[in-house]
Amino acid sequence: MSAFDCIIVGGGIVGAALADVLCAEGLSVALVEARSIGAGTTACGMGHLVAMDDNAPELALTAWSVALWRELRDDLPMAVEYDACGTLWLATDEEELAAIAAKVASYRGAGVRAEVLDAAALREAEPALTPDLVGALRVPDDAVVYPPRAALHFARRAQQRGARLMPGCPVAELRPDGVVLENGEVLAAGHVVLAAGVASPRLCPDLPISPRKGHLLITQRGAPVVRHQLVELGYLKSAHGSDGASVAFNAQPRVTGQLLLGSSRQPGVGSAQVEPAILERMLKRAADFLPGLDALRALRVWTGLRPATPDGLPLLGRHPGKPWLWLACGHEGLGITTATGSAQLVADQLLGRASAIDARPYAPSRFEVLHA
Ligand SMILES: Cc1cc2nc3c(=O)[nH]c(=O)nc-3n(C[C@H](O)[C@H](O)[C@H](O)COP(=O)(O)OP(=O)(O)OC[C@H]3O[C@@H](n4cnc5c(N)ncnc54)[C@H](O)[C@@H]3O)c2cc1C
Repeated sequence: MSAFDCIIVGGGIVGAALADVLCAEGLSVALVEARSIGAGTTACGMGHLVAMDDNAPELALTAWSVALWRELRDDLPMAVEYDACGTLWLATDEEELAAIAAKVASYRGAGVRAEVLDAAALREAEPALTPDLVGALRVPDDAVVYPPRAALHFARRAQQRGARLMPGCPVAELRPDGVVLENGEVLAAGHVVLAAGVASPRLCPDLPISPRKGHLLITQRGAPVVRHQLVELGYLKSAHGSDGASVAFNAQPRVTGQLLLGSSRQPGVGSAQVEPAILERMLKRAADFLPGLDALRALRVWTGLRPATPDGLPLLGRHPGKPWLWLACGHEGLGITTATGSAQLVADQLLGRASAIDARPYAPSRFEVLHA
């Protein structure tokens, strides 16, 4: 038996960021990963670090997390591809343009810079976009990273601070005093944190986490020049408003001269297979916004499974029915962004100290099903 202060199950961006923070506090940590660091949903994500204002707790966590990423930026290796490109939320009609005023107020209220671009300013900022757009909301401090390399960076920094990285070690069972690996090895620890993303319910079946599938596509080089992460404002409606599959325009400039295009959402769908019909809908939507896309070739398409909770917020804190188990999972489509804030919130709770933001909205105890 090896003894650690803390075992983190799952080496995605959330587990890796937590390992980094806990090691910086002097704890002995094992980061136990079934495959390789960042190989789960983290390897499939878009890497948009985005302040989102669907609701107050989401805005608090995302705004804080984006600010924490900004503090880290000078120490990030080139391979993480941190790009402070900002976000443009695109309005297709006057109704969406009118909604921007309220969004500006809510962002500013959370300390996030935001400004309105009219149609002419938008055309100047992003000439490759269709001229039909009526304006945009610009959030200049949003950014982009390459998620699997960001996870690897956190894990390696944790390792330099003494963490034991254990890739290729699937955990079979969680226990109050540690974990049992699939090979039968037992690891002992004072604390166990479950950060296994969409696979978390396999180890803790009562968790209200389900897959929400997404498709992405990366173009060949030579894509239309785009300077910001571009997202249609209708994204919020299509992302959260329906039970069926939805697509929305989302485009990200990569430093390689490629464009990363998304995205789709299929609640409850857990298959990794690429679905041509969804992809076609997604690309048609993208071409509506970026007419120059028609001439381009796709280099690769893939899917990923977002770990979704019923209220869209992550589970960060003690499992109320199993107080020995800590949860850091259920980040849906914002886990790259919120890895930094989530790691701080869980570390603060583990160490018994206050956090910079109120941790209660993310407490697992909000779900009755976990009290049994
Ligand atoms: C198409 C798409 C686009 C996205 N775009 C963005 C975006 O632009 N911005 C953003 O913020 N977020 C985005 N996301 C969401 C983001 O990718 C996820 O929220 C985030 O990656 C979740 O990280 P995680 O560490 O919780 O999970 P994961 O990355 O899945 O990590 C969990 C790890 O646990 C390991 N594991 C599982 N079972 C076990 C076991 N039994 N034992 C040991 N290890 C185990 C897995 O192998 C995996 O590596 C996107 C997601 C998708 C699918």
